[in-house]
Amino acid sequence: MKNKEIFMKMILVIVLLSGGYYFFIYNHNDIQEYTTEELSIQHQFLTVNPYSRPGKALKRINGVVVHYTANPGSSAQNNRDYFENLKNRHTTKVSSHFIIGIDGEIIQCIPLNEIAYASNNRNNDTISIECCHPDNSGQFTNATYKSLQKLIKNLMLTYSLNKNDIIRHYDVTGKECPKYFVKYPQKWEQFKDSLDN
Ligand SMILES: [Zn+2]
Repeated sequence: MKNKEIFMKMILVIVLLSGGYYFFIYNHNDIQEYTTEELSIQHQFLTVNPYSRPGKALKRINGVVVHYTANPGSSAQNNRDYFENLKNRHTTKVSSHFIIGIDGEIIQCIPLNEIAYASNNRNNDTISIECCHPDNSGQFTNATYKSLQKLIKNLMLTYSLNKNDIIRHYDVTGKECPKYFVKYPQKWEQFKDSLDN
C-alpha cells in the first residue's frame, strides 16, 4: 500500500514537471516571432554577429525601453539594414528588438529571448523599441505613436508589465532619447497613461 502511494506521488511529480517543460517550450517558441492580432509585424531577424545580434539569452523581461533613431526621415527598413550591415562595417555595436517606421510599420530585428544592443545596462532585462521620426524635433507621427502604443500594450500583457516598467532611454543613461519625450516630459506621462486602458 505504501509503495503504491509513493509510486502515485512520483507519477504526479513527473506529470507536473513535463507539463511545466511543455509550457516553457511553448512560450519559448511563441516569442521568437512576436505576433499580435492587432498589428502586422514583419520579422526580419538580423544575422547573428557581435555588432548587432550577439545571440545572448535575454533571460527575464522587466521592462520596455523606448528610443528614437536620431536620423530624421529614415525608414524602419533603412534602420534595420543599418543594424544588419554592422556585421561587415564594425563601426559600432547597436540594435533594437523592434523598429517602428513613420507610417507605423513594425519590423522585429531580434527574437525576444535574445538581448539587443540598445539600452546600456538594461540590455539584459528589457525589450527595446526604436521609433523613426520625420524631422529634427524627434516628434513621432500619429501612425508611429499608435503602433508604439499598441505594441507596448501587447508586450505589457505578454510579459505582465505595468506602465511604470515602460521607460525612456533617458531614464537609463540620461541620454536625450527619445528627444521629444525628454524635452516634453508631460507628453511622456500622457503616453504612459494611455497604456492603462
Ligand atoms: Zn536611445
